[in-house]
Amino acid sequence: MSENPLQALFQTFAKLSNTVQAHLSNLIPQPPHHSTSPITKTPSISISSSSKVTPSPNDSSHDPINKGQSAGPVTKEGLGRATWTFLHTLAAQYPDNPTRQQKKDVKELMSILSRMYPCKECADHFQEILRSNPVQAGSHAEFSQWLCHVHNTVNRSLNKVVFPCERVEARWGKLECEQRACDILGSTTNFWK
Ligand code: FAD
Repeated sequence: MSENPLQALFQTFAKLSNTVQAHLSNLIPQPPHHSTSPITKTPSISISSSSKVTPSPNDSSHDPINKGQSAGPVTKEGLGRATWTFLHTLAAQYPDNPTRQQKKDVKELMSILSRMYPCKECADHFQEILRSNPVQAGSHAEFSQWLCHVHNTVNRSLNKVVFPCERVEARWGKLECEQRACDILGSTTNFWK
């Protein structure tokens, strides 16, 4: 266990991000109406002792993160898609009544992301966005709408289509895990309060 709580938080983020990327890289390309489905926890991934994801044998070049690029370094766009997937999935699972610790964690996570995101141009830009849009994480609805808004701020700066935030719940669902195994720790109990 790391002694630095920020480092521990960042490591947790890195692990979660890897997991989301791993899930997505194993998804078969979906027809358009499936693209809005919640992410399913797929069992077909094997993770070696060095924590590298071993693609399944039928894994092809249909990688929704790097869009058709079979191998090689992650692109800025691929990294962005993976990170937004992680963040919107986190928001989808963020509790209606978060504990004080959860509110603190999510703010720290955004702050760390704005400093350590591995694309300096993006990190600097995100820092500016956070300064004018402080994290709102008082509830699930508040956090997911805030995230949609800041994602749209990035979209606008890149001349991308603005996403209708009233559709965020339909676009990003909770991870589909049996027996709520993917719930955020503490979302059903209040021991952190
Ligand atoms: P993405 O923007 O990656 O979105 C992925 C999916 O999310 C979309 O397909 C859509 O279904 C959904 N979506 C889109 N908008 C929203 C929304 N508002 N709310 C909910 N869901 C939505 N790239 C740069 O070139 N310069 C930057 O400065 C930069 N800053 C970034 C900062 C952060 C914090 C992050 C995470 C990424 C940043 N990126 C930046 C990457 C950029 O935002 C995109 O991820 C990348 O260009 C790929 O875009 P995309 O069109 O595939 O969809």
